[in-house]
Order: sequence, then C-alpha cells, then structure tokens
Amino acid sequence: MTSLNRIELNFLKPYYSAQYEALSRDTSLRALQFKIMHRIVATNRLLFKIKISPYDLCSFCFTFSETIEHIFWECTIVKNIWFQITTELDLENKIPNFKLGPKLTILGYVEKNCHQIALNIFLAIVRQYIFRCRLDSSEPSVNGIKNVAIYRCGIHKNINNKLNFEFMHGWADL
Ligand SMILES: [Zn+2]
Repeated sequence: MTSLNRIELNFLKPYYSAQYEALSRDTSLRALQFKIMHRIVATNRLLFKIKISPYDLCSFCFTFSETIEHIFWECTIVKNIWFQITTELDLENKIPNFKLGPKLTILGYVEKNCHQIALNIFLAIVRQYIFRCRLDSSEPSVNGIKNVAIYRCGIHKNINNKLNFEFMHGWADL
C-alpha cells in the first residue's frame, strides 16, 4: 500500500501549487482539494476517530477502512473507474508522463505542460464526483462521471478559453 504521508512529504508543495493554479477559479473543487491536501476529508476513518461514525468501513465496498487513499484510489470500485476512464480517453498516450496511481488520482498532475490545468480540473471533478457519491450513498460509475465531467468541463471552458480540453473530445458526443 502506498503511503500518502510519504508522498505528501515529498510532493505536497508542487502538487498543491499545481492544483491551486488549476482550481483557482472554482471554489467548490478547490475546497475538496484543500481538505485532501490537509488530510481533513470527512471519511469514515476520520468520522470514526472522532466518534461521529459507528464504523470506519468504506461507503462503497464495505470491506476496508475508508481512508483518503482508499476512497479516491485503492477501493476496487473506484480503481476500476479510474482505469476505465484512462482507457476510454486514451490518457496514457495523449498526456506526457501520465501514470495512473495514487499520486495522480489523489494529488494531481505536476508536469508543467499545456495539459496540466485541464487535466487537474478533470481529476478534481472526478474526485468531487466520487465524494458526492459517498455522501449520497450511491455507487460511482463511469457514466456518472461522463455526465458530470462534460457538464463541468463545459463551464470551465467558457470561463477560460485557454484551457486545453482536447482530451475530452472522446466524450463530447455522449
Ligand atoms: Zn472501498
């Protein structure tokens, strides 16, 4: 299991600045990312610790402790979705140094290139969708992400035309 603590020690600053730059125009996305970076997301692990939840199990698989690492990456249900999105959008070929894993899915993309802002916004939208599913007690799905991402990326595109949304075109007609 990859320890996010160790990742944070080495990468918090660059990841945070990359995320901040990408999310500076959207307070709802930025708020969740701020909580992730500072490890104050209300997961069942945290809620159990402070005696608000009677259990710490994952809201999706009900098998493992619901940590930040688990709910945004390690959970089989969530991980399958990340793999499916990556394949469908062909991200490994389209984005330089795209490496699916906890660093990318939880903390973001730090490569300084034209994809950074758009990809970080997209990743943040997926994270937000996953967390909203947890709050609604619904299981996340690729179709759910497609609906949310297309809608949200459309908004961002209108706000800032400089963003590169080429990698979203694969889903544009859905
Ligand atoms: Zn799980």
